[in-house]
Amino acid sequence: MSPADTQAQALLRKLAAYPKVDLSQGVTPLEGLENLGQRLGIALWAKRDDCNGLAMGGNKVRQLEYYFGRGAADGADTVLITGALQSNFVRLTAAAARRLGWLPVVQLEDRVPKDDIFYRSSGNFLLSQLLGARIHHFPQGENEAAADRNLDEIAARLRDEGRRPYVIHLGLEHPPVGGLGYVEAACETRRQLQGMGQELSHVVIPSGSGLTHAGFLVGARALGWQVPVLGVCVRREAVQQHSRVLRRAREIVALLGIDLEIAESDVIVDDTVLAPGYGLINAPTRAAIRLAAECEGLLLDPVYSGRCMAGLLHFVAQGRIPPGSEVLFVHTGGAPAIFAYQSDLGVDSGFEKSKQ
Ligand SMILES: *Cc1c(COP(=O)(O)O)cnc(C)c1O
Repeated sequence: MSPADTQAQALLRKLAAYPKVDLSQGVTPLEGLENLGQRLGIALWAKRDDCNGLAMGGNKVRQLEYYFGRGAADGADTVLITGALQSNFVRLTAAAARRLGWLPVVQLEDRVPKDDIFYRSSGNFLLSQLLGARIHHFPQGENEAAADRNLDEIAARLRDEGRRPYVIHLGLEHPPVGGLGYVEAACETRRQLQGMGQELSHVVIPSGSGLTHAGFLVGARALGWQVPVLGVCVRREAVQQHSRVLRRAREIVALLGIDLEIAESDVIVDDTVLAPGYGLINAPTRAAIRLAAECEGLLLDPVYSGRCMAGLLHFVAQGRIPPGSEVLFVHTGGAPAIFAYQSDLGVDSGFEKSKQ
């Protein structure tokens, strides 16, 4: 066995110490985006985590395998989560709960100042309703600790009703369990690349709660893989996001119980395409969505994957990703949100015309 295989096996053994339920359909594809790469003067691949089976897929499937693993170990029959009205995490939690026979209870926050009809009724919100999630409304959007506390109160009431709730906490006061799913994703990606005989010069990944970014970074470094992991800020400005991802990465290292130093310089974040803020469209994101669709038939969403692609285009334009680079774009999903944002996507619809 090569030293790289030995490192991978040691890491997978650490991961195996955590309870996990299987919600995916195995390894997600790693595919070349040749047309888009050619346009940009780089070699480009996509890790298709939008294709992982469950209820239209996305990165939260990997995270949920570990949260539900914990809940199942606690004997839960009900799951609670909080998120934005158009949260992919909420939709996938509801789907995972249904698949496992649990009751999904979700709290929807007013996080995004948008009130058009599509945002308020379609996309992930529609799907969460179809999945029969019990829905609570929380009138704040940027107070993670308060959202978690309110969720705990709902859980306490459910416990009084005789249910056994498990709460998926996403605030910083709670351990970054979902990040383990992206440690695993880094192992899987590394193995696929080795099978192709392909090296990478950069990985580009969205950075929201930071667990996808931090998990992938920790997984890569634990394998001795020093590829720069460029995080594209989708929710917070770079200074805040840098300290958040660094903290989460170090917490994931501690969860795994491995001996690994994550340096400040390992955490790279860029917020150039964040404005005007979380869940609000901008011109670079709209252009990136169009470009991926037209070059590759690849669907990206306005909140996460489209913004991440906009970040990648910015890195190329700026020379931070130089010509000839070998780049992996981590496609984290989010396509249902396209329908919630259709009035923002510049599609020539009757709705657009009626506004003018
Ligand atoms: C949640 C989400 C992200 C961000 O992942 P974090 O782990 O929260 O940083 C990226 N893409 C999609 C589609 C998501 O739903």
